[in-house]
Formats: sequence, structure tokens, C-alpha cells
Amino acid sequence: MSDKIWLSSPHMGGNELKYIHEAFDQNWVAPLGPNVNGFEKDLEEFLNANVKVAALSAGTAALHLALIECGVGYGDEVVCQSMTFSASANPIAYQGATPIFVDSEKETWNMCPITLREAVSDRIAKGKKPKAIVVVHLYGMPAKMDEILAVANEFDIPIIEDAAEALGSTYKGKACGTFGRFGVLSFNGNKIITTSGGGALVCQSQQDKDYTVFLATQARDEAAHYQHSHIGYNYRLSNICAGIGRGQMEVLLHRVNARRSMSIFYQDLFKGIPGVEVFTEKSPDFYSNHWLSAIVIDPTMTGITREDLRLAFLEDNIESRPLWKPMHLQPIFLTSPYYGQQVAERLFENGLCLPSGSNLTDESKRRISQVINKIFKVDKLTK
Ligand SMILES: *Cc1c(COP(=O)(O)O)cnc(C)c1O
Repeated sequence: MSDKIWLSSPHMGGNELKYIHEAFDQNWVAPLGPNVNGFEKDLEEFLNANVKVAALSAGTAALHLALIECGVGYGDEVVCQSMTFSASANPIAYQGATPIFVDSEKETWNMCPITLREAVSDRIAKGKKPKAIVVVHLYGMPAKMDEILAVANEFDIPIIEDAAEALGSTYKGKACGTFGRFGVLSFNGNKIITTSGGGALVCQSQQDKDYTVFLATQARDEAAHYQHSHIGYNYRLSNICAGIGRGQMEVLLHRVNARRSMSIFYQDLFKGIPGVEVFTEKSPDFYSNHWLSAIVIDPTMTGITREDLRLAFLEDNIESRPLWKPMHLQPIFLTSPYYGQQVAERLFENGLCLPSGSNLTDESKRRISQVINKIFKVDKLTK
């Protein structure tokens, strides 16, 4: 069997171990310390939008704290993009609130601003104004933030920007994760950079950051003894993991360039294959880190379904995966309200994520091309 080609695998830069050794040398083996502070500073400088960053144990934890800080509680409603990973929606349920799912638009695959407006208006008409809006930058593609922010401002509802997949992406030149009341980053093992597991909450003020860190460290009031007037969480990032993060920040721009060149690799590969659309930016306002490269196959034109291609890849030990199954189709969320048509559903039916790692070799690319050319019967001589 050939070596496995992963969808997206960790890619170390080289200095990660140096920062981990420093932590051991200074005995900062704890969920605080110089690497945590350094990693936060690196992220703040990279995002370059006057934001404050709180490093946390996961992107999911960041979403949870963002909802709490937006005042989401039992019985509330929160609007959420349906086409996403379950971690965007689960923390809404942690709070005992109900997600209101909204469909995508076809250009960015992210929340449709028109449907968002309909959903918010209808929820208000039914008697409840949503407490927050969770918008996602899927696979690194920025959502239509101007239009979405216009709706949020019209109704005075805070935006929580799930930028877990979009570190290094920009919209009109401004970093994804810095537009909302809060932004969420993830450093899980499959993301564009990793701390093995970790996340961050991007805040608009030092006050918000301080409160985030307070909640993330068990909400200890100022006192010599343990004193609590809030429910706390244990959500801070380990100083060891943050050391990995500092090493990864040194190579982030290289990782973005490598992922973007994987997208160009697929654009070239599918150029001569009608009926396959490679997911790309539709205007220069959008700059995607192309965390994952994705395609949509029209089976009526190609005679091939996304499942045919997935299985062909699998046969050569190459991992690929259908696009996110929309949340409104998930068994656990079937009773949650949904607004939209079938944009997300169609994407799920016909879409596939392809190997996109920043560390794929020429040999891996050759194997990927071979499977694609074989299944779509591309005559190499005429290409
Ligand atoms: C990865 C991811 C998350 C969760 O981040 P973790 O660090 O794994 O908890 C949330 N939302 C989206 C869209 C993601 O891709």
C-alpha cells in the first residue's frame, strides 16, 4: 500500500521544540507563562487590527466564551451558519440556547446576508430577537462581511466570527477574525497552523480580553482565598502548547502560500474538465488562505459523483472528504429552525475536500493527478 496522503496534516516549522525547551528550562509547565503571552502577542501583531487575543484550549472553548460574553443564556436564540463544522453550533446548545440555522450563498459558501435578514426579521416578528450571529469563513474563504455586518448593525446584534479555518485570510485587506464583536481561531491538529490542540478568542478591547481570561481560569475573584461570583471554566492554553504556537507563527505566511499554491495546483488540474468547479475567490476583495481546497462536481456533466472520486482516492490511500454536512440536516439539530433553500444541501451532495496540506510532496501531487486524470478519463496527450 502506498503511504497515506492526508487531507491536512500538521507541518512543523523547526523552532517549536526550542520554545518547549525554554518552558521546561524555566519550569513554566502550566496553563500560563511566557509562551502563552508571546503567542498572544504574535497573533495580535499578525492580525494587525488593534485587537487583543486570549489564547485558549480550543476554538470550541473560544466560541463558548464568546457566546457567554454576548449574554447568551437558557432559552435564547442564536443565528448560526448551517454549512459548517458542528463546533460552530454546539456551544449554543451548551448555553441552553437554540441555534437558528441560515443557508449559504453560492459565491463564498458562507452565510447568505439576504437570508440572514429574513431570518432575523422573522425571529423578531415571532417574539424573540437573536442574541448573536455566528458567521463562518468556510475553508478559509471570507464571508461577505460588509453585507452581514450591515444586517447585524441594523438590528444591533453582535457578530461572533468563526475564523477557525481562516487564519491568514483577509476581506478587503482586513484580517478575518477581526470584524466581529468576537473572533474565534483554532489551532487543532488539522488547521493551517497547530498547537496540537488549542484556540484563541480575538477581542476588541483589553477589557474583553481580561474578562475572557478571567472566565477561562475558573473566574477567581480578587482575594487571597478562592472566592467566586461567576461560573468559571478551565479553558486556558498550556504554556507547552503555546510554545508550539510560537514556532508555528514564524512560518504562518509560508503555510498560507503553500495552501494557496495547492489551490492553484487543483485549478490547473481541473481546467480541462468541464463540470468540475474549483472553489476560488470571486473578487479581489476576498483573499482565502485556502486551508482546504474543495471542488463541486456536476454529475450530469461528468458522469462522476463526488462519491466515485472519493472512493477512487481511497483506493490509492488518499484521504478526501465530503464538504461539511449542513447543521440543519444533522439528527441532533433537526428540531432547530432553518431559513434558506438548498444551497448548502447541494454543496454537501456534490462537494469534496481534497488533500490540501502545506507539506504535500511532488510525488503526492503526482499520485493525486493520476487518480483524477484516470477517473475523468483525461487524455494526457491532448492536455
Ligand atoms: C476546527 C473548527 C472549530 C473548532 O475548533 P477546535 O479548536 O477544534 O475546538 C470551530 N469551527 C470551525 C469552523 C472549525 O473548523
